Amino acid sequence: MNDAILLPHSLDEAVDALAREPAALPVAGGTDLMPRVNAGMLRPRALLGLAGIGELRQWQFEGRHALIGACVTWARLAGPDLAALVPALATAARQVGTPQIRMMGTLGGNLVARTREADAVPVLAALEATVLVRSAGGVREFVCDGEPGAQLRAGELITGVRVPVLHGPQEFLKARVSAGFHATLALVVDPGARTVRCAVGGIRPGAERPTAAERWLSGRLDPASGHPVDARDAATFGAMVADGLSAGDGPRPARAHEQRVVAALARRAAERAFAA
Ligand SMILES: Cc1cc2nc3c(=O)[nH]c(=O)nc-3n(C[C@H](O)[C@H](O)[C@H](O)COP(=O)(O)OP(=O)(O)OC[C@H]3O[C@@H](n4cnc5c(N)ncnc54)[C@H](O)[C@@H]3O)c2cc1C
Repeated sequence: MNDAILLPHSLDEAVDALAREPAALPVAGGTDLMPRVNAGMLRPRALLGLAGIGELRQWQFEGRHALIGACVTWARLAGPDLAALVPALATAARQVGTPQIRMMGTLGGNLVARTREADAVPVLAALEATVLVRSAGGVREFVCDGEPGAQLRAGELITGVRVPVLHGPQEFLKARVSAGFHATLALVVDPGARTVRCAVGGIRPGAERPTAAERWLSGRLDPASGHPVDARDAATFGAMVADGLSAGDGPRPARAHEQRVVAALARRAAERAFAA
């Protein structure tokens, strides 16, 4: 690595610094980036430390949304205030790595991390959350799809995520599919829109929305109870979610195993969401 370590104290300073030194790599908790730097896989010309920017470490209400700063840590996401508003994100946060990783790792870093397993991504995709970015050119936002990191342009920083507060059941489940790899599944019920939304992560790069399965289960919700009309619907939903996964390039038995795991996660998530 070269010499420059830039340590801005405000978002304005950070954006200016990035405009002056476009090759600088932002570093938040460093739990994804620094192991790659230390292993010699990455040799950034400069680092832009985000940890000293207070406005990125906070969250606040914005109408019916929670505006969560990019440097809010997993530990904070798992805390009671955000858990009450965005339970699926809190459940994901509680299952991340180790206590040390949860204390350091951040939401914004997770969206950009070069890993198939970015546990916040399926949750935010299912919530149809909005990713907020800023550069010297101004502000921009986009809906969190399967690969939010791929949507970032040079010179842009993620400043936060706008998440709807839905007041409906939310689930996040994670299961090992092979050595070192986990499938994740987020399911959220939007009572206002009478829809169920779901996203699968960990299997392919980014998260995938099984839209046919989502539409089917949403159509099965009883208008009076808000629950699926038939107890067997969770199992059918699970099978549909697995069928909706895009074809991977792994060997056929591995793909069949992934599908079984995902079907089980989706069925269990639907059963739990509508258990009450
Ligand atoms: C032992 C271990 C266990 C882990 N377990 C899990 C797990 O269970 N689930 C999981 O999802 N992840 C896991 N991770 C991966 C990692 O900890 C998380 O992805 C974490 O959220 C990354 O956040 P960070 O702040 O540390 O990112 P950093 O390492 O600081 O940055 C990651 C990437 O994001 C970029 N970046 C950071 N912040 C911004 C920003 N605001 N704007 C633009 N770019 C930005 C950086 O330039 C870098 O490319 C694990 C890592 C380790 C080492």
